[in-house]
Amino acid sequence: MRRALVAGNWKMNKTIEDGRKLARDVAQGIAQENPSGVDVLLGPPYLALTAVAETVSGSAIGVAGQNCSHHPDGAYTGEVSVSMLRDAGATHVILGHSERRELMGEGDGLIARKAAAASAGGLTPIICLGEPFTTRKAGKTLEHIAHQIEHSIQGAFTSPPPGGFIVAYEPVWAIGTGLTATPEQAQEAHAFIRERLEDIFGLECAQETRILYGGSVKPDNAADLFAGPDIDGGLIGGASLNGGDFLEIIRAARTDSAST
Ligand code: PEP
Repeated sequence: MRRALVAGNWKMNKTIEDGRKLARDVAQGIAQENPSGVDVLLGPPYLALTAVAETVSGSAIGVAGQNCSHHPDGAYTGEVSVSMLRDAGATHVILGHSERRELMGEGDGLIARKAAAASAGGLTPIICLGEPFTTRKAGKTLEHIAHQIEHSIQGAFTSPPPGGFIVAYEPVWAIGTGLTATPEQAQEAHAFIRERLEDIFGLECAQETRILYGGSVKPDNAADLFAGPDIDGGLIGGASLNGGDFLEIIRAARTDSAST
């Protein structure tokens, strides 16, 4: 049985102090409500990682980096390694986000190398994939996703890695746009991803791997999106910057009766 996961991607937002405050708000909300059946991750920018990890330490909330180098160390100006993220308190790392693919030119091969390095270094990778609007319009969404799975996930792992991995399906046209996939579109893509994982890594891996939906998830659409049987929670951008909104989205993912 997969537990739901709601992960916040703060992108390039929040100073160290602002990050501490947001993390405190989320941790206090969770301590009060004790939502069952849902894991929570915060993804602050690098500089706020340690402060956020300290703020949530002792709570059930984990911390994720937003990227990492595939190199262990060395002369790579501006880069951050897997061991540095772990040292700062991260347990997970978001990889292959469409903003990094589009704005920083990251391709599937590089994402696969980062995922392999993260996993070998003890971080659980959250590997993002999803189609641009033109691809969806052309009816090639599933083909596009299959290609990304093959090159960014199968390219990283010949067999399921010991700590597992997480997939985030994020249609590019829905990220930060206010547009969302319909629950049916999201479920179709998630079921397809799970089928492909089964073909590549076997039934157990497919059944255990959490597949998150990302793309303008808000308090008012989260419950409908998370209702899909293959949708195991969300990767949340804009709405994770507001403690109240993020907590509402977490509530939508909880499995106990208090969510109704
Ligand atoms: C994201 O950045 O991963 C994301 C899904 O952003 P938003 O929720 O703002 O669309």
